[in-house]
Amino acid sequence: MLTHRPTPEFPRHLEELYARFPFDRSLADDPISEIRFLAHDPRRAEVAGVFAATLAIGNTTAIRGAIVRLFAIAHGDVGWLVAPGHARERARGLASFRHRWIRGDQLDYLSRVLEEYYRHAPSLEVAFLEGWSTGGFAGGLDALARVLRGEGTSARLGAPPRGYRALFPTPMGPGRSPCKRLTLFVRWMVRDRYPDLGVWRRVPTGELRVPLDQHVHWIAYHLGLTGLRARSWTAVEEVSEALRRIDPLDPVRYDFVLCHTGISGDCPKERDLSVCGPCSVRPDCRLWRGRRASA
Ligand code: SF4
Repeated sequence: MLTHRPTPEFPRHLEELYARFPFDRSLADDPISEIRFLAHDPRRAEVAGVFAATLAIGNTTAIRGAIVRLFAIAHGDVGWLVAPGHARERARGLASFRHRWIRGDQLDYLSRVLEEYYRHAPSLEVAFLEGWSTGGFAGGLDALARVLRGEGTSARLGAPPRGYRALFPTPMGPGRSPCKRLTLFVRWMVRDRYPDLGVWRRVPTGELRVPLDQHVHWIAYHLGLTGLRARSWTAVEEVSEALRRIDPLDPVRYDFVLCHTGISGDCPKERDLSVCGPCSVRPDCRLWRGRRASA
């Protein structure tokens, strides 16, 4: 099978897509819209980011609804979730919470893990950097996943609830998970450019990897940024490297645009001239290969 590659003009086409993109329209639909107001408060931004990213399964409306419900349980202060002194009230409040297959008892355990972690460390950035220093970005995610799974603290906290540890996969596990939710969390924490929060200061933006959800993967595959049809950590690395060649200092700045081009319906994911006509990356799109003259 022929390998699909974007045209040499792809960087300019992608910049056009970025420049024309209606950020404000899509921001309202994105889970980050529910936590951006905390950007001035690094601890609360981090806690909100962990919970929001953990809940980032399914469509964006349902995800935003789940975040709003969680904040209501926390009396509007996400810091309450990780503050000591009200374990029973927290467990009671979360008991009936559900979002897809995520249950309130799992979020309660996550609260307890974070409460314990913050007793001896100021930020999850510390854990990420420890892993990153020896294992690169994947090592940072692996260290983060191990902290969030409660490894090392479960003796004090008791065994986690059913299915809890599976919420935090690692790219270094046998499944080579793309780790979309943890990668998204790190993007929110590290980038200080719109629309992200930028509360971590020591991880270079050039090191970030793209949160490869199904929308980003679809368009990345069809633009030839990866030849892999299935999402995996290898695909994350391929897409991130392709974007890094265009913007070495901030490759992940294109993520929001690529993701919401799919979510919004701007990209129909099929050949439809009425929609694809104005698409600036149409010359690079696999669906239009060999059809430019007739388009
Ligand atoms: S040309 Fe059409 S199918 Fe291809 S990326 Fe653009 S909008 Fe999507």
